[in-house]
Amino acid sequence: MKKIIYNITKFTTTDYKDHLSCIVWFTSCNMRCEYCYNPDIVNSKSGLYTIDDLLGFLKKRVGLLEAVVLSGGEATMHNLIEICKEIKALDYKIKLDTNGSNPKQIKELLEKELLDFVAIDFKATKNKFKEITKSNLYDNFIESLNILEKSGIEYEVRTTLHNDLLNVHDINEMQDILIENNYKKDYFVQNFLEVENIGDLKSSTQKFDLSKLDNKLNIIWRN
Ligand code: SF4
Repeated sequence: MKKIIYNITKFTTTDYKDHLSCIVWFTSCNMRCEYCYNPDIVNSKSGLYTIDDLLGFLKKRVGLLEAVVLSGGEATMHNLIEICKEIKALDYKIKLDTNGSNPKQIKELLEKELLDFVAIDFKATKNKFKEITKSNLYDNFIESLNILEKSGIEYEVRTTLHNDLLNVHDINEMQDILIENNYKKDYFVQNFLEVENIGDLKSSTQKFDLSKLDNKLNIIWRN
């Protein structure tokens, strides 16, 4: 069996609000975001654990943990359907962190009621998407966003902000795009943290001009 899990964070209270969770870090990703602080996971083909290892761990944690966060890398690079069925059979809730690149799998997971919460990254406007993610997956993201909205599942949209990559006009345009796609909930924007990252980015010296920020959505800043 392949070791498709790079690592497991055995316990967290912060990743899935109000739930004691573990985080499963799946290997590989179909994007190469400049600010990505997980280059080792993104570039890895093999990790520390198999799915059987994960299930063995979860069996021992029944009653102690409430939820499993599927993250990465990009978790939907792997077929999550059977994995989620096994996790659900142990009565855990499942949160998926995704870049939205695999609408087909997200749809199937939702149709089979295998997810409880989804956090989806909105990387950039269409114009800047390729430059920032090194991928052509913008349309996939929009499709995933629409699938989530129509499904009625609890979900959130979040953006990582590096002032050299996105400016206030981009964030305003991204709010418009979300509204056009019927997203009316809180919009989470997290500031870039200067740690090891794919593009070797340093903190920006450019200012983000808050006075020009539209507040069409309720923006929640995360550090
Ligand atoms: S930040 Fe980008 S490259 Fe890194 S894991 Fe997420 S989608 Fe992949």
